[in-house]
Amino acid sequence: MKKRIIVLFTSVCLIFTAVLGSSSMVLAQSTFEVPQIGDKISGFIVKETTYDQSTKSDKILLEHENTSAKMLIINNSDINRGFSIKFNTPPDSRGTNHILEHSVLGGSEKYPTKNSIFDIINTTYVSFANALTYPNMTMYPICSQSEKQLLKSADVYLDAVFNPLILSDERIFEREGWRYELADEASPLNFNGIVYNEIQGNLGNITSTAVSNANRAVFSDTDQGNNSGGIPSEILTLSYEDLLDTYNEYYHPSNCFMVLYGDVDYVEFLDMIDKDYLSSFTKKTIDIERKTQGQFDKLVEKTYTFPVAEGTDTKNKSVIDLVFAVDDIKEMGMEGYMSLNLAVALMNLESSDLKKAMIESQIAESYLMQLDLTTFQPTVHFIAMNANPNKAKDFYDLVMAKMNDAVKKGLDTNLVKSSLRSMEFEEAIGSGSAVNELLLSSLFDNILDNPMEDYLSYIKIIADKLDEKVLESTIKEQLLNNKTVALTVTEPEAGLLEKNQMALYQKLSEKKSSMSKADIEALVKKSADFNAWNNESTSEEVLKSLRAVELKDISIEMKNREINEDTIDGVKLMSTIADVDEISNIQLNFDLSCLTMEELSYLKFYIDMINYGMDTKNRTEMQVMNDTTYLLYGMSSAIEAVSDNEEDTDAHPILKVNYYSFKDEYRKTFDLVYDILLQSDIDKISTYGKRTIANIKANYELQFSEPIGLAQYRGLAYTSAKYQIINYLNGLDYYNFIESLGNKITSNPADVIFNLKVIRAKVFNKPNMQVLYAGDSEALDKFKATMPDFADKLSGLSFSDKEYILPRPAKREALIINSPVQYLVVNASLTENEVPMSHKGIVISTVLNNLLLTPEIRLRGGAYGVGATFMDNNYLVYTYRDSNFMNSLNVIAASGEFLNTIIPYMTDEMVESYVMSLFGSVNQSSGEINDAMEVLIDNYNGTSIQDRIDMLEEIKSTRVLDFGEYANYMTKLNENLNYIVIASPSEIEKNKDLFDDVISLD
Ligand SMILES: [Zn+2]
Repeated sequence: MKKRIIVLFTSVCLIFTAVLGSSSMVLAQSTFEVPQIGDKISGFIVKETTYDQSTKSDKILLEHENTSAKMLIINNSDINRGFSIKFNTPPDSRGTNHILEHSVLGGSEKYPTKNSIFDIINTTYVSFANALTYPNMTMYPICSQSEKQLLKSADVYLDAVFNPLILSDERIFEREGWRYELADEASPLNFNGIVYNEIQGNLGNITSTAVSNANRAVFSDTDQGNNSGGIPSEILTLSYEDLLDTYNEYYHPSNCFMVLYGDVDYVEFLDMIDKDYLSSFTKKTIDIERKTQGQFDKLVEKTYTFPVAEGTDTKNKSVIDLVFAVDDIKEMGMEGYMSLNLAVALMNLESSDLKKAMIESQIAESYLMQLDLTTFQPTVHFIAMNANPNKAKDFYDLVMAKMNDAVKKGLDTNLVKSSLRSMEFEEAIGSGSAVNELLLSSLFDNILDNPMEDYLSYIKIIADKLDEKVLESTIKEQLLNNKTVALTVTEPEAGLLEKNQMALYQKLSEKKSSMSKADIEALVKKSADFNAWNNESTSEEVLKSLRAVELKDISIEMKNREINEDTIDGVKLMSTIADVDEISNIQLNFDLSCLTMEELSYLKFYIDMINYGMDTKNRTEMQVMNDTTYLLYGMSSAIEAVSDNEEDTDAHPILKVNYYSFKDEYRKTFDLVYDILLQSDIDKISTYGKRTIANIKANYELQFSEPIGLAQYRGLAYTSAKYQIINYLNGLDYYNFIESLGNKITSNPADVIFNLKVIRAKVFNKPNMQVLYAGDSEALDKFKATMPDFADKLSGLSFSDKEYILPRPAKREALIINSPVQYLVVNASLTENEVPMSHKGIVISTVLNNLLLTPEIRLRGGAYGVGATFMDNNYLVYTYRDSNFMNSLNVIAASGEFLNTIIPYMTDEMVESYVMSLFGSVNQSSGEINDAMEVLIDNYNGTSIQDRIDMLEEIKSTRVLDFGEYANYMTKLNENLNYIVIASPSEIEKNKDLFDDVISLD
């Protein structure tokens, strides 16, 4: 079960691009003394201690004596350390807590930066920094690979939450929340604000809006149905005073819970927290209502509309969401919750009777089940996407009938037992990651009042009770007999998008007409003052105060690993030794140069079908899932692209199949992998093909409503050979292929089956294949001895490479979507514009992000996100959930000039801080076995360990002196940009001269 533990988090966050810290290796139990219960340390009293086997951590729960502030220490040897602070905050659809979450990181008394979060990310040695709002809590996590920096960062975060500038500066609320904007007396009045735009983007997606509607319907008498991110129209009713009231109520130590994670001297942290923050407070009682939603007399049925543009096809495009609010998780207990989690996971499998019946019913195109545990009463959603709105009741009847059958007949629960095996894998690989642990402990404290809860241990308990039908009785109690249930339909309404935009415009123009001349002048001045304030950058002194380590203190070590090359039974094997027991990581690479363009799409589809589950020659779909869950860990198959030269003017596609295997099971795992890759039952195309197409289309729809990834692929495909392949296989071309394939499967299935079989035979053969192996030397010998088992079954035929020209988007392209927010991607090739391919560019783009793009496009322009980067041979800039792409284009175009103007103010010390922030995000280790595999993959792609070191050295050598040169480079790049703009039909129409091509995404 890949989705073994579905821990669903519905949260909104400060920044969207932050990459979650990849898991770091926990090497061994650290030698550190666990205090005794009742011990007093720096004003805290030890309440509870425990040892967690799965993450090899000592856990210590403390309570602050004077304030009751809680603190959990998770001590282990992970050097990617983390700290977080969380407050319990009730959900409110005006987005109060969400705007507060943004605002407190807008500067504090001790650290008066203009926007702490971006200064932290861009100029200090941290690996992760963000802030998140959940329905019932707001949390602030930060991680660093330096203990000294983490102590400093914890101080910055604590000062942010306890002494934020938002308390005295309304402009921060106006920037992060919402404000009126008036450029001059003649201009139209406008709304702007980061959260306002962020949420318009969030709710630009019909499925997430439908889920939000369903929550509102099922929690009609409690606050749990409120959308804690905020609803755009309600955000506009929030005042600064209300925001401060909420802050004063909840941001208090008596309502806080902190976590400290990793290899740290916790006493130093406790000392600082007590002395500098908690000691000035006294205990306060903060009551947060925890009301249970009562049972309804009859099924609650509600219909909602969703705005889409005039002329959009709305037939069978509704979302039906059947939602159950189950018992309060405190009543249910973790065991009850895990039973529900496993029962839903089993019903959500493509092969379950419920899922099959849904597909047969043709009520909708695709279906989804989700369990959300961020509300006090978790919710279970059964969702039908692209549905016929008149079939809602049929959907309800079908789900109830099939759940009834499942309770009577019993579920196929073998998978639960197999999934226990993944704990053995995780322990062998080394799991546990700072961000995850901070998050889960905070959430468990929030909803359970018990941050020490070891939720994984309940799977074992439940597995032992499967014969007692625990999962079936959970379905019966929590779903079938549950009267707290709502059936909701969210229907798209064509033209409502324009109508809403018009109403907003009307409201604003009425507001402006009602203003006196003096009011108007005052607002123009206020807007100008806001912009002037926004233009002040953070002083070097303040920036310096955020740092505890400097570049010279940091050394990045890369373990030198020898790569061995063998040919076994005609197949090339590249291996490296990893210092682990039992476990190994294996990657099978198949070169796809022999496929034509069309064959490549077919292969992509075959891999998609496999990933969604198929019968094979020797196994049923369920057996495949059981065996992969038991024998292989983290199996993934995907088509990627590899550049043929540094300039990326040529590239070729490869298929990568990656998995972990224990050394005594190579024979079994090879047999399974062979069965899946070469013997999946293509003849059942009408079942698997149609199902897969429905799933792929549902996936595309999500992408169309947040199309930043799609736009980046397209933008890069204009200049990069590698991205031409990636875009071809993941973008609009593949979407079109899927549409026509659907018709072909109906009209001529034999032809599709034949094609797939021919392509499969062409791809999986010895000359195309290369194996990458990481594991210990004894295991490697066993692996080599087993490899012929697999290789012998493959043919030795080789095929010649195919030549083709992949589609390339227009230089200036517009994509139309049904959302009031906009997206922008601009791109240029370095070498084509005579800009050297140097890694110094990454430093320059970080400087541009912090000093130009974030202040002008996010903080002033209101776009939720913006980023520039140098990637291989490309310069790429993107904005998302933007409200004014023209402004963004103009800001981006000025980057050369901007670099020239800042040269007099820049020092090498400042440049070093940007370099250091980049080093902070270079993960020093993702675990021994993963590190070893990364070296092999790099080597396969033509990058050696020395290349990596040279890259870091080049980044490190960046100086102010380079800025002048880069100012010229930026000017050259800006003169030759290709771009993609994504916006509503009316916005594109208004600017149609800017585009060579316009494509509609619905
Ligand atoms: Zn946000």
